[in-house]
Amino acid sequence: EKLGIALVGLGNYSSGQLAPALQETKLCKLSGIVTGTPQKEQEWAQKYNIPDSNIYNYETYDQIADNDDIDIIYVVLPNSMHAEYTIRAAEAGKHVICEKPMATSAKDCQRMIDACNQANRKLSIGYRLHFEPHNKEMMRLGRNEVLGPVQQMSGTFSFPLNDPDAWRLDKKMAGGGPLMDVGIYIVQASLYTMGQLPTSVKAWDETKDHETFSEVEGTIRWNLNFPNNVVLQADSSYEDRGNNFRMEAANGWAELSPAYSYGGIKGETSEGPMDFPQVNQQALQMDDFARCIIEDDQTIVPGEMGKRDMIILDSIYESAETGSEVSLEFDKDGDFID
Ligand code: NAD
Repeated sequence: EKLGIALVGLGNYSSGQLAPALQETKLCKLSGIVTGTPQKEQEWAQKYNIPDSNIYNYETYDQIADNDDIDIIYVVLPNSMHAEYTIRAAEAGKHVICEKPMATSAKDCQRMIDACNQANRKLSIGYRLHFEPHNKEMMRLGRNEVLGPVQQMSGTFSFPLNDPDAWRLDKKMAGGGPLMDVGIYIVQASLYTMGQLPTSVKAWDETKDHETFSEVEGTIRWNLNFPNNVVLQADSSYEDRGNNFRMEAANGWAELSPAYSYGGIKGETSEGPMDFPQVNQQALQMDDFARCIIEDDQTIVPGEMGKRDMIILDSIYESAETGSEVSLEFDKDGDFID
């Protein structure tokens, strides 16, 4: 019997990626939906064969507590809503997957971790690239010093945001701009390649169009400093396009380009091209979480990792605002390194 997942928020990511992935999963399936749009209830019920009893809206959300078909709630809402809907999911007795970025502050991340611990429920973040073979190879090459110790890293993740009404432009809803949305992937890549926590950060707001990007940054650049003088040089933008990650090691290099896409990821090293299959990242990610629940195992992408990354993002913004280098301090549950 597969575990049942309910998707909360049926926007682009749920409809374009997660629901299709849930047709391929082996240990979990799409059992329920939570939506504020009545028209979507009908559409999704028909397309995915979801019974009326498993369809909820934002008023009836907490009643999922009484539904045995639903084991996992997957929060796919705008960033500022992640904390509330994760905490309420835990209080309803459900395990939770929460999309990235985990929340809009490290404090909220801690509340989410605490709520899941108190309810004795598991919490994971939608960090799909931990299940992607080329990115896993980058982790192996970096951490095992296969090409010698890592000396330098660089990355870009940018796309032109063309919807002027998007919640992504609203500071309250999004918590920030491209850094929160996609720059987080470069931060992630640098940590999983190094297998170490960074020590400090320096950042620069390089927004071009201040009219469109009046609340959140349009473009941001940062240097993330690791022990032994290793630096990640990164940038992220809603005003440009780019998708890559590169590391220089003592005896060679490795690069992913594109690095963070849902498919079509390509990798190359100083030894030659990487040869790995394309996978359904979301299916693997959700199946691994289901396996963790079934076997009572630890997820490799827990809330603690989401909180750690939020501490780093907060510090990047602090440095961009103050113009000073900011030391990173990872408090309780934030010092996660797997
Ligand atoms: P989206 O705008 O397409 O969808 C958001 C959904 O939330 C919509 O269905 C909207 O109706 C609903 N919603 C409910 N209450 C709302 C409110 N008060 N204001 C605005 N919308 C409200 O966004 P998306 O691209 O699907 O992103 C959703 C989340 O998923 C974000 O946190 C994002 O960072 C994350 N995401 C992750 C990935 C990934 O690869 N892991 C990819 C895309 C998005």
